[in-house]
Amino acid sequence: MKAGVGGSDDNSSTAELHEALELPRTLIATSSVGIAVYHESGRCVLANESAARMLGGTREQMLAQNFNQIPSWKYAGIYELALRVLATGQPERIEFHIFTTFGRDVWLDCWFAVLESQEERHLFATLVDITDRVRLESALRASERRYRTVLEQATDGLMMADEDGRLVEANQAACKLLGRSRDTLLSMRVSDLFPKEDLAAHPLRLNEVLGGATIQVERRAIHGEGQLVPMEIGATGIDLEGKRHAVASLRDISERRKLETMRDEFLSVAAHELRTPITVIKTYVQLLERLVPSGQDPVMDRACRALGRQAARMARLVQDLLEVSRVQVGRMQLKRELIDLAALVSRVVDAMQALTATHELGVELTAEPAIDGDPERLEQVVMNLIDNAIRYSPDGGLIRIRLGMHEGEAHLQVQDFGLGIPEGMRERVFERFFRAHAGTRSNYGGMGVGLFVCRSIVELHGGRIWVESKEGEGSTFHVALPLC
Ligand code: ADP
Repeated sequence: MKAGVGGSDDNSSTAELHEALELPRTLIATSSVGIAVYHESGRCVLANESAARMLGGTREQMLAQNFNQIPSWKYAGIYELALRVLATGQPERIEFHIFTTFGRDVWLDCWFAVLESQEERHLFATLVDITDRVRLESALRASERRYRTVLEQATDGLMMADEDGRLVEANQAACKLLGRSRDTLLSMRVSDLFPKEDLAAHPLRLNEVLGGATIQVERRAIHGEGQLVPMEIGATGIDLEGKRHAVASLRDISERRKLETMRDEFLSVAAHELRTPITVIKTYVQLLERLVPSGQDPVMDRACRALGRQAARMARLVQDLLEVSRVQVGRMQLKRELIDLAALVSRVVDAMQALTATHELGVELTAEPAIDGDPERLEQVVMNLIDNAIRYSPDGGLIRIRLGMHEGEAHLQVQDFGLGIPEGMRERVFERFFRAHAGTRSNYGGMGVGLFVCRSIVELHGGRIWVESKEGEGSTFHVALPLC
């Protein structure tokens, strides 16, 4: 007998069976698929090494056994299946788990069919060891369960969208924050979550995120019950199954917003209340200066100068606070007229240069754009940017101010070679009360409102403001304004 195949070769029906199978014995013998054939009486008439190995015995043991005598087949329900296949003639397949005689637990994929030869019926079985695959699948399922638990237990809302902006994943927290079921969310697009007018003013930036950018924004999301909920949203792009996806975390900032509103109201009231006492102080300082001519009393001179300086500083701070509350309540209005922007910039630069001996303001005017805007407000923007450039380059040096035209817009740049702005804070310098250098040893003055007001003014003009910066190397603030 050739290696590893067959059983009672002297049995004529087995010989016929081999012929019927028309498979070379060596193929059966060497196959990694377990092959066994049982006579309908249950007697094993053919088994290869692979089948024996998978079932945890030897071929001889298999050939000596009836299929109803294999204990592991009994409890795995294989026996009933074999009988059924023999009865119906319909092939069937089953995946089952057994412990071999050596105690090894294996998963097998078994396929049963009936072979008809002459008057006899045989049960033909193939066995494939799928233990590795089953273990891998179960490890994957466990890992998936772990990640899902983390996802579901997260207190932040987490969502994922595909390249077309369709939501493909949302955890429980996201469902709760948005007041919608998971199924509802998964039938929506990201853009369905925000009011149309908000999207028109602040587009989604999905392509930016898919392209690899990480963004952090504050937006109003539409709750399932209709109300708008302010959210802080962080989003980034990832690769998943060969496709780009956007992953976002959501946090309800209603409480924070309420506190901010209280703070703004308080500051606005405080600023209004401080205006009168400051004016009184300034008036009396001027009176004192007139009553005690300078040079008469050095102590008095110093006191008057210090009082005057500090009162002016207080007046500026109060002015800034009032500006913020004006922006907040949308009460900032423009008095528009036709402006020669180059002349405006030159004017501000000359005035600012007179105030600083430590910095050189270098101006390059490569165009003379005409703008329909509020000259006072635009002067305020240019002044603020130059003032910041001076304050945040404490070692002095050059400040470059360039004005040109680019793609139908006037383009102003104010560049310094000072401290720069740390990464991650560049977007935030335009938020109110945000100070990128707060808590550092040096005090650069300021309340973090100047750029907030600048942005409001620029946006009221239909323009854009942004910054490029490298920490330790300096910053360039850009303003783009539509031409008239
Ligand atoms: P502040 O009055 O505090 O300067 P701003 O709104 O003008 O307020 O600016 C916000 C913050 O942005 C500043 O506190 C500072 O940290 C940062 N910043 C503004 N301009 C510059 C600049 N030219 N270089 C570096 N940091 C800057």
